[in-house]
Amino acid sequence: MTLESETISGGCLCGAVRYEAEGFLDDAFYCHCRMCQRASGTPAEVSVPLVPGSLRFTKGAPKHYQSSSFGKRGFCPDCGARLCWTPTREAQAHWLSVTVGSLDAPERAVPQSHGCVESQLPWYKLDDNLPRRRSEEDPEIVAAWAAVEGEGR
Ligand SMILES: [Zn+2]
Ligand SMILES: [Zn+2]
Repeated sequence: MTLESETISGGCLCGAVRYEAEGFLDDAFYCHCRMCQRASGTPAEVSVPLVPGSLRFTKGAPKHYQSSSFGKRGFCPDCGARLCWTPTREAQAHWLSVTVGSLDAPERAVPQSHGCVESQLPWYKLDDNLPRRRSEEDPEIVAAWAAVEGEGR
């Protein structure tokens, strides 16, 4: 699969925060991890990966919550809308992403996979045949957590 990025835009519910980025709309992904569930208040977060470093805020700025030592979650300080996940380490620079729901054209995103399905809610049925991986089956997630543990988190 050859992915091409394109300029995308989005923002929060109240309009205080707006962004632009170079995004891979054809590579959106579900994350069913408990952190995404708790952060978004939804069964899973669906996000669009971005070209590393391409996220820029054209209005306002999000507040961030550091949800792990390798990433922080951006949200609107006024309305609380979840907006982005920003890596704090170079090794995960390509994990930079924005939430599908915050996009101006969310219908253009195409999910390609499900991650962290060990915590997918049993009643959250998704009628697709996309690849599904548990956290421990994803080498990048395993490596990220291993690096954190090596530092005595
Ligand atoms: Zn807002
Ligand atoms: Zn997650």
